[in-house]
Amino acid sequence: MEKITPKIHVVTLGCSKNLVDTEVLLGQLVGNDAQVVAEADEADIAVINTCGFIEAAKQESLDAILEAIQRKNEGQLKKVVVMGCLSERFAAELKKEIPEVDAYFGSHHLKEVVRELGIDYKIELLGERHLTTPSHFAYLKISEGCDNPCSFCAIPLMRGGHRSKPFEEIIAEARRLTQLGVKELNLIGQDSTYYGLDLYGERRLANLLEQLCEVDGLEWIRLLYAYPAKFPKEILQVYRQSDKLCRYLDIPVQHSSDEVLKSMRRGISRRALRDLLLEIKETVPGIALRTTLIVGYPTESERAFQDLCDFVREVRFHRLGVFNYSQEEGTTAFALGDPIPPEVKEERRSIIMQIQQVISTERNEELIGRTLKVLIDRREGEFAVGRTEWDAPEIDQEVYVIDNGVVEVGNFCLATVVDATEYDLYAEIAP
Ligand code: SF4
Repeated sequence: MEKITPKIHVVTLGCSKNLVDTEVLLGQLVGNDAQVVAEADEADIAVINTCGFIEAAKQESLDAILEAIQRKNEGQLKKVVVMGCLSERFAAELKKEIPEVDAYFGSHHLKEVVRELGIDYKIELLGERHLTTPSHFAYLKISEGCDNPCSFCAIPLMRGGHRSKPFEEIIAEARRLTQLGVKELNLIGQDSTYYGLDLYGERRLANLLEQLCEVDGLEWIRLLYAYPAKFPKEILQVYRQSDKLCRYLDIPVQHSSDEVLKSMRRGISRRALRDLLLEIKETVPGIALRTTLIVGYPTESERAFQDLCDFVREVRFHRLGVFNYSQEEGTTAFALGDPIPPEVKEERRSIIMQIQQVISTERNEELIGRTLKVLIDRREGEFAVGRTEWDAPEIDQEVYVIDNGVVEVGNFCLATVVDATEYDLYAEIAP
């Protein structure tokens, strides 16, 4: 009798690091000829790759689990499997609260998840990923976990201590990805600047970037999740020497006031942070700085918040995101309580975003008339929509290029900026 293989649907929540975990899982499933389906309502088995970072993300993961359980109770799904950060952190509570889930796994249980899906784990498929991003760009995880002591952060509780991926494995993975048509690699980790310290006893990020720049077929390499304290300044020389390394750096600073930075255990002062960011901008002309901030941290006084506003006005980040503080069990800040009311957090978040909106508009208007290299991600009506080297996928701004349909998705083009809004550019294909 013919063996019926179940249709499997994987839901990925959270960050790009979770997305890579899903792609590695899909690499095993596709490599074993399993039936992977894109739509939840076609599936027999649902796998939920969860996020447990902050309250909002936890709720989103819970909702996805409960939705899958409802499908199971309605007879559509035969099995629900949960993996990732939320179940890494709260497995016991989840098993008690939602016993209908067939199996819970953490964030490092690839073999067990594959077996739970009735498939043989194949070691020869290690490193094989089934991309879920458009084929011209991909994320490349260079490390897992984090050794930093940030008081508000639960990530080390879910992802463990810092483990760098061996140099050779990263280069080999980059080569395989370019063979799949990838032209842009986005380097990710919890703290990408720590790369190598655990494995080689020294920071090897500069060396890694140099080697990645040698990989044929790659046109853009982008560095995300840099940690400001003990920043390896030697990487700035790689930026100056290579035109493959996007003049872009994602460097979450979280706050600026000395008293808050101290309580957050960020290991850096306001002055050192300011000097570092200015040095990066001076050493790599034209570099775009992206950052992430937290407002409403328990010790954030009105004066500390004003300090943050001044800092954002002074540094003029190119790209910026703001999170409202989320009190997380198991973090060292948990004991500080959560004294700042949600409406005050929300007000502070919107004040920062208003400041940033003005900066972003001014910066975008300065680009009118400039001809820029744009990587096209998709088509939208008459527009080819893409990004410059200053824009990471999915989190930063876009360029709407009027191209009369000549540019293919996944290709680069030169486009002259004709208009700008606070968060997007409009351009015409350059002659
Ligand atoms: S660097 Fe800090 S905020 Fe980032 S993952 Fe590590 S502990 Fe969390």
